[in-house]
Amino acid sequence: AYAGPFTIEPAAARFLERDAALFIEGAFCASDGNERLAVHDPSTGAVIAHVPDATAADVDKAVRSAHAAFSDGRWRDLRPADRERVLLRLADLLEERGEAAAQIETLEQGKSINLSRMLEVGASVDWIRYAAGLSTKISGRTFDLSLPGGPAHWTAYTRREPIGVIGAIAPWNFPLMIALWKVLPALASGCSVVLKPSEVTPLTALLIAELAVEAGVPAGVFNVVTGGGAVAGRALTSHPLVAKLSFTGSTATGKAVGHAAIDGMKRFTLELGGKNPALVLRDARLDKVIPGLMAGGFLNGGQVCAAASRIYVEAPLYDDLVAGLRQAIGGVTAGPGLDPQAQLNPLASAQHSMKVRGFLDDARAAGAQILQGASVPDKGYYVSPALVLDAPEQAQLTRSEVFGPVLTITPVADAEEGLRRANDSDLGLAASVWTQDIDQAMTLTRRMEAGTVWVNSHVFIDPNMPFGGFKQSGLGRDFGSEWLNGYTEEKAVCIAH
Ligand code: NAD
Repeated sequence: AYAGPFTIEPAAARFLERDAALFIEGAFCASDGNERLAVHDPSTGAVIAHVPDATAADVDKAVRSAHAAFSDGRWRDLRPADRERVLLRLADLLEERGEAAAQIETLEQGKSINLSRMLEVGASVDWIRYAAGLSTKISGRTFDLSLPGGPAHWTAYTRREPIGVIGAIAPWNFPLMIALWKVLPALASGCSVVLKPSEVTPLTALLIAELAVEAGVPAGVFNVVTGGGAVAGRALTSHPLVAKLSFTGSTATGKAVGHAAIDGMKRFTLELGGKNPALVLRDARLDKVIPGLMAGGFLNGGQVCAAASRIYVEAPLYDDLVAGLRQAIGGVTAGPGLDPQAQLNPLASAQHSMKVRGFLDDARAAGAQILQGASVPDKGYYVSPALVLDAPEQAQLTRSEVFGPVLTITPVADAEEGLRRANDSDLGLAASVWTQDIDQAMTLTRRMEAGTVWVNSHVFIDPNMPFGGFKQSGLGRDFGSEWLNGYTEEKAVCIAH
């Protein structure tokens, strides 16, 4: 339970007081084992809830429930318009209960309540409505054939059919929204799903499963198993009745998930880490660049896969950019996410805040200069925003994903050097270019090795825009009008007449 000091909605308080449970066959149920995981409030470290650490037997039960629900057609055989209606009802329910959902999100993840309201709830509602609409847009193609001999005429076409049980695995940075990014295309296309949220932030996944059933998703179609990666995650990735794995998380875990998928010949989508460059040209407008990179680098404490992380700036603008960003990070106030005035909130876990501090210590030892912003409370998992100057090109902090409030800033002689350094990474999730020169912008967007490139902005994503990684940042694309292609098989039908 949550013990204050902020007042939370009665519905949020009741949810946190619920006994630890999994969500299988349309209802909360006990685990087969006795292990439980504690969920912490990152602003204090206090335990606010427990969830089961699911066993392989629990995962098997959830997958069998999903498989039975898929096989008997209780969801896939509904009229597409009826699946759409149910999902639209889910959007309405999340909107109506949004404040409690936002508070639970902030309490388990640490982010500002403003961000929970705007993105985890507000944007999620938009995403649900977008995916709901795709339920009624599934279509195939027709073909003319040129087969020699045989009948005079052929009619050939394809249909798209739901793949089956989707094993969905989510990270802890946007627990509610990213869980939905996996569950929505599954449900819209008629699949059933077993979702394993991160062990750090398991609560809102349980909340949306409960809302989905209330909205009319039949029992067994949407199940949630809470637990760690080593047991519950692996049990899901290796289960023979799971037809596709939809994974969002780190590149290291994504590779393990990809191997497991290939072993079982499962389909898979991997949305992985980023080390995203922002290239600032000498003509860029600092009044746009500074707020843009503050948001791009420090939104959600930098715990964003697409966050700006490496800034390359043409030398004439370097001093002014550093001074502007330094002033901006110095002016933020730190505090718990439930305080709407606090702009700097704790990171999601003690372990992660130590990892981020470790990166900064390494960089300092390697000779980098680190400018840190506002002071932070002693209690809780806070890390003050940091600008890292003179970071050696091969330092761990320069090469690896930090996933925290840290920006490296490096002067470059010209756009060509900036582009070379921006592309010098194994990762290729996102990038941004900051300039007033349309020719430069067009050339650089073409040459950036990244799944998304923004010009004069960073970090904005939309359900109608495909999203995914180049290089080691992933495989496949989410969102956009072709989103359901990843959750359906294309079957060719060939009729002789
Ligand atoms: P993580 O890889 O540690 O864990 C992600 C999930 O995988 C968790 O649910 C975890 O329990 C599970 N898991 C761990 N080991 C597993 C295994 N062997 N088999 C199956 N499941 C296993 O990632 P994280 O620390 O939770 O999240 C942060 C990472 O996610 C960052 O790298 C970030 O860039 C990435 N991310 C990517 C996107 C995107 O869309 N590309 C979005 C958000 C986050």
